[in-house]
Amino acid sequence: MQEAIMRLIELQNIDLEILKIERAMNEIPQSLQKAQTQKESLNKKLSELTEIIEEKKKQKDLFEEELKEEYNKLKSTQARLIQIRGTREYQLLLREIEEIKKANKQKEEEILKLMEEIEGLEQQKKEIEEELNKAEELFNEEKQKFDEFCQKLLSDKEELLKKRETIAEKIPTNLLKKYELLRQRKGGIGIAPVINYVCEGCHMSIPPQLYNEIQKDNRYYECPHCKRLIFYKKIYIPEEKEEVPENKNTQS
Ligand SMILES: [Zn+2]
Repeated sequence: MQEAIMRLIELQNIDLEILKIERAMNEIPQSLQKAQTQKESLNKKLSELTEIIEEKKKQKDLFEEELKEEYNKLKSTQARLIQIRGTREYQLLLREIEEIKKANKQKEEEILKLMEEIEGLEQQKKEIEEELNKAEELFNEEKQKFDEFCQKLLSDKEELLKKRETIAEKIPTNLLKKYELLRQRKGGIGIAPVINYVCEGCHMSIPPQLYNEIQKDNRYYECPHCKRLIFYKKIYIPEEKEEVPENKNTQS
């Protein structure tokens, strides 16, 4: 057994753990994504509703302004009524007054309708705001959970990097460089075991001669296909023990 290979295997395991951590940190949990989507959709709803309410209020203000003018017009028309002598003119003016009153009544009704609409919409807005508050709370909770999770992962990673450094120091520079280069180019795996003629890095068969040689374990070998460093599995990785689930364990 070559010590440098042993160290490289240790390094590879650590690097894979680090990779796993990095992936986990980049993967936003579904619960957080869901909370965010909900928050955003409620925010959108709220701003749309606010816009509609603003429009209705503007319309209402405009109608009120117009109504005020119409009332002033009515007043002056009514004042003119007193000064009129001719019956026909009087009748015409009276009809005009009736017309104005009718139009005003209609406008008042429209204003009333708008007010009711606005009230209803304000109620809806309040409900959405409450929903949004809850959604924001949930989002913040989920965000905090994820942040804490990432914090934990980050400290695990720090820990692993420290461990990695101590191990790397003990590996010959050339070999380490080769491993690093391979690892970067080959999806995080720079050294792979070989068993039953198969390189577990690329899952291709290696020639029988190399397979025989690798079992001698007296130099560094590389896979002819993926170029990764390879080693004979049985020498470096003890047979995995068969795990017996605890609850099925027989009494001893
Ligand atoms: Zn290979």
